[in-house]
Amino acid sequence: MLVVGGGMAGLCAAVSALEQGAEVLLIEKGTRFGGSMALSNGTIWSFADAAVLKQHVPEGDPTLQEMLVDRLPEAFDWLAQQGAPLEPEFAFLQYGRARRTAPVQMTAALLERIASLGGEALTGVAMQDLRVRDGVITGAVAFDAEGPVEIEAGAVVIATGGFQGNPELVARYITPLADTLYLRSNPWSTGDGLLAAQAAGAATTPLLQAFYGHAMCAPPARFNRFEFQAMSHKYGQMAVALNMSGQRFADESAGTGEELLNSRIALQPGCRAVYVFDALVGERPLEGGPLARVVADRARQAGALVLQTDSLEDLARQMGQWGLPPSVALRTMQTYNEALASQQDAEALLPPRQTHRYPLAAPPFTAVLLQASITFTCGGLFTDMDMRVLRRSSSISSLALVTADVSELQTQPIAGLYAAGCDVGGFNGRGYVGGLSQALVTGRIAGVEAGRHTR
Ligand SMILES: Cc1cc2nc3c(=O)[nH]c(=O)nc-3n(C[C@H](O)[C@H](O)[C@H](O)COP(=O)(O)OP(=O)(O)OC[C@H]3O[C@@H](n4cnc5c(N)ncnc54)[C@H](O)[C@@H]3O)c2cc1C
Repeated sequence: MLVVGGGMAGLCAAVSALEQGAEVLLIEKGTRFGGSMALSNGTIWSFADAAVLKQHVPEGDPTLQEMLVDRLPEAFDWLAQQGAPLEPEFAFLQYGRARRTAPVQMTAALLERIASLGGEALTGVAMQDLRVRDGVITGAVAFDAEGPVEIEAGAVVIATGGFQGNPELVARYITPLADTLYLRSNPWSTGDGLLAAQAAGAATTPLLQAFYGHAMCAPPARFNRFEFQAMSHKYGQMAVALNMSGQRFADESAGTGEELLNSRIALQPGCRAVYVFDALVGERPLEGGPLARVVADRARQAGALVLQTDSLEDLARQMGQWGLPPSVALRTMQTYNEALASQQDAEALLPPRQTHRYPLAAPPFTAVLLQASITFTCGGLFTDMDMRVLRRSSSISSLALVTADVSELQTQPIAGLYAAGCDVGGFNGRGYVGGLSQALVTGRIAGVEAGRHTR
C-alpha cells in the first residue's frame, strides 16, 4: 500500500494500515515530515455536537461532519496509544472540544510507530501520476532526486494536503489575485493528489473556491514560517475592515472565525485590507487568539505598517500614505460609528454587522495593513464514508437531484483509491470544522480501509 504525503493525515493513515497487517510505503515530497501540521500550534479540535456543527457550518456535508464528531474521541485515544503527547481535553471556541499536542514530538512518535511496525517512510519523493489498469489503481509514478520511480501498490491513499501552493489552481478556483495571496502553509501542497486523482477519473466536491486562512501583516513586514501564528490577525471579527478604497466590503463578524473575512479580503484589490480597532477592542479577549493590541505590537516589531492616533481624522489622513483615500476612509468609519448608535440603524448597516458591534470610540485608534493568506483548501476529492475516492459518473449538483432518477445518480468508488486530510472535500463548506481533527479521523479511516483492501 502506498501513502502519498507525510503530514498529519498521511502519518495516521500509514500507522493505521500497518496495524491492519498491510505492507506500507509512505512517500513525502518535502525535505521533512509533518507537512503543515508541523507549523501548527497543535490544537486538535472540532465541534462537540454534530447539530451545532451543522448550524455553524451549513454548507458542509452533514454526513461527513457527523462522522467527524462521532469518531474524534476514539481517534484521540488511538493517537495517545501511538505515544503522541496529548494534553487533557478542554472546551474550545464555545462549541468545540480540543486536545493539544506538540506537532514535532507527535510526528516523531508516528514515524517511530511506522518503523516499528515494519513500514517505510521516505522524504524527497513526490508522486506525480497514478497508475490505473482496467479502472483499478495499481500504483503510482513518483520522482525523487534521481528521476522517476515506479511504485506498485494494491491501494493508494492520497494525503497531499490540498492545492493552496499551486497558483494556477488557486487562480482558477479561488481568486484571480493568486500571486498576491500569502501562502500560510507548507510549500509542497500543490494539488498533486487532486490532479492525479482527477486524471484517474475522480469526482470533486462543490465549493472548490472555499479555503481557510487568516489575514497577516502585509509587506514590508518580514516573518518566517514559524511565525505564521503570531502574524495572524484573528481578532478581525471585532475590528472594522477597510479595503484600499477606504470602504467596508464584508460583515467582519460573519462565520466561525476570522477565516471568512480573510477569504473576502482575497477578492479585494491587492488581496489587502486594513483592520481598525479602538483601545477597548484592543484589550477585549477573543477565544482562540491573543489580544488585538498584542498582535498589533508583534506586527510593528516585524516591520509591518501599523498606525496609532488619538483621532479618527488623523488615522484616516495617515492611511493616505498607504493609498487609501482619507476622506472616504473617514466617512466609512464615521458612518459605521453612527449606525451603531441605534439598534435600528445598526440593522440597516451595509455591509451588515451581525455581531461584535463595537464602535471605534475609545482612543488610541490602531490601523494595521494586512494581506489575505491561504492555509489550506476546503474543496477537494469526493469520497464516501470509508474515504474511498468516488468516480466522476453523474452530476453531484442539486439540479440533478431534482431532474434525475436516484438510481441514475449512483456513484462508484475507484477501486484502490483513498483520500485523507485536506485532500478530502466536503467537511468545511465556507466554515471551519478543524484541520487536524479532519486529518486525524480521515487518515485513520483511509488507512484502515486501504489496509484491509490490500489484504
Ligand atoms: C500556521 C498553521 C497553524 C495551524 N494551526 C492549526 C491548529 O491549531 N489546529 C488545527 O486543527 N489545524 C491547524 N492548522 C491546519 C493543519 O495543520 C492542517 O489542517 C493539517 O496539517 C492537514 O493535514 P494534511 O495531512 O491534510 O496536510 P499536511 O499536514 O500539510 O500534509 C500534507 C503533506 O503532503 C506532502 N505532499 C504534497 N504533495 C505531495 C506529493 N506529490 N507526493 C508526496 N508528498 C506530497 C506535503 O509535503 C505535506 O507534508 C494549521 C496550519 C498552519 C499552517
